[in-house]
Amino acid sequence: MKSEKHSRLVMKFGGTSVGSASAISQAAEIVLAQAIAWPEMVVVVSAMSGVTDDLVRGSLSAAAGDTQTYQGIAASLTEKHTRVVEDLLAPAGELRDQVLHFIDRCLAEFSTLCHSVCVLGELTPRAQDTITSIGERINARIFAALLEQHGAESQAVDASEVIVTDDNFQNASPLAIPTRERAAARLGKLLEQRVIPVVTGFIGATTGGLITTLGRGGSDYSAAILGDCLDADEVWIWTDVDGVMTADPRVVPNAQVIPVLSYSEVGELAYFGAKVLHPRTIRPVIDRGIPLWVKNTFNPGIPGTRIERQSKEVTGTVKAVTAIKGLSMVTVEGRGMMGVPGIAARTFGAVASQGASVLMISQASSEQSICFVVPSETVQGVIRAIEKEMAVELARQDIDRVWAMDDMVIVTAVGAGMRGTPGVAARLFGALGGKGINVIAIAQGASECGVSMVLEARDAAEALRQIHDQVIMNNK
Ligand code: ADP
Ligand code: ASP
Ligand code: MG
Repeated sequence: MKSEKHSRLVMKFGGTSVGSASAISQAAEIVLAQAIAWPEMVVVVSAMSGVTDDLVRGSLSAAAGDTQTYQGIAASLTEKHTRVVEDLLAPAGELRDQVLHFIDRCLAEFSTLCHSVCVLGELTPRAQDTITSIGERINARIFAALLEQHGAESQAVDASEVIVTDDNFQNASPLAIPTRERAAARLGKLLEQRVIPVVTGFIGATTGGLITTLGRGGSDYSAAILGDCLDADEVWIWTDVDGVMTADPRVVPNAQVIPVLSYSEVGELAYFGAKVLHPRTIRPVIDRGIPLWVKNTFNPGIPGTRIERQSKEVTGTVKAVTAIKGLSMVTVEGRGMMGVPGIAARTFGAVASQGASVLMISQASSEQSICFVVPSETVQGVIRAIEKEMAVELARQDIDRVWAMDDMVIVTAVGAGMRGTPGVAARLFGALGGKGINVIAIAQGASECGVSMVLEARDAAEALRQIHDQVIMNNK
């Protein structure tokens, strides 16, 4: 039994957890089952799985001048959501009518927005966010109506009324002070009245009220932001796997659930591609020390993974391995770089000017080259910017060339117990070497809970399986 004090819970249901009528029904049961233990509950919902992708596809096709595709998507999404509502909400009831009307309105809005995009021939990030917010807005309505139908007082809340962000559309960041104020005003009040707010994940709004999104997969982040701003006691992320696992179970079928992880371990995993948590989710809960759980909507009886400040470290152990794809490794090389101050700063200044994020950096001690990894879609711009910045050095041949290898992947082994255990790296390389997998570059984060290796993309799946089976499973 929990003490009286522990009473505020934020739960988030991901796309597959609300991806069909039966999944939504299961998720609602989970919420209702917690109502006694947690008198104050906030539910955060994603769009039904696949819906955000459809909305993006519709808007991109409209921008390309295609007037058909978005209309087809509007019709199929109307039908999809309507069917779910007809399965879940009692016929001829007011709740059902209201939700159906809302769905029609939202998808008519989608068509109108796409029409404008098509006429203008341009899709701005701002328009894209308004368009992609529609999936969450519909789902929050459906979910709240279902809870109401079960007799729980509930209200759908658009996060654009609560999460205030900057205007970095498509990857917005929350502004802490106004979000805290609004969360208390809009949600705190509902909670005191024992109403369950069902809040749209993924979205927010600027101070001027323009809709923003927090980046793909951002509903996890929404839950963490609300957990922080509402001083929640716990945040639970409901998904379609049994918790955070030793590897992506789609690639490594014998992956196992990890019962406890620290914030830094899971932060490293999420940053390096474990899709189970949006990488920015960890920050708001770290700051307040709020325990975060990852649980399976379709297997709610098992505890899942608990993420907390400090997990138990077992010396020398690797807990999980993950991979991030779609990367290019850029190398700046030249014998004239040795000992010249400022080369690295100028290189990364040029990278930053392209808005490219650097996932990993490695510099050989001879200082004759710097290599770093960026998402492939940014690599051409990055190379051009560095060549421009280093034009003089290139002409003098202090720098010989700036070049990139495409189709790279970063594989990262994670575990706080690796700290100061030199043998771990040898075991990782041994596992890969045994299969003839070539490691192109390595880096160890300052937190020392991860070792990252750059490999060719075609080796990724085998590398994950080898590290998993030979290193992680041999921890035990
Ligand atoms: P949701 O829609 O619930 O947010 P996601 O698809 O975003 O779910 O994330 C869950 C998926 O993350 C799982 O189905 C799994 O395939 C993938 N995944 C990748 N790495 C891991 C990992 N280490 N542990 C668990 N799941 C992982
Ligand atoms: N629906 C959004 C997406 O597909 C956000 C999320 O699911 O977390 O990216
Ligand atoms: Mg997700």
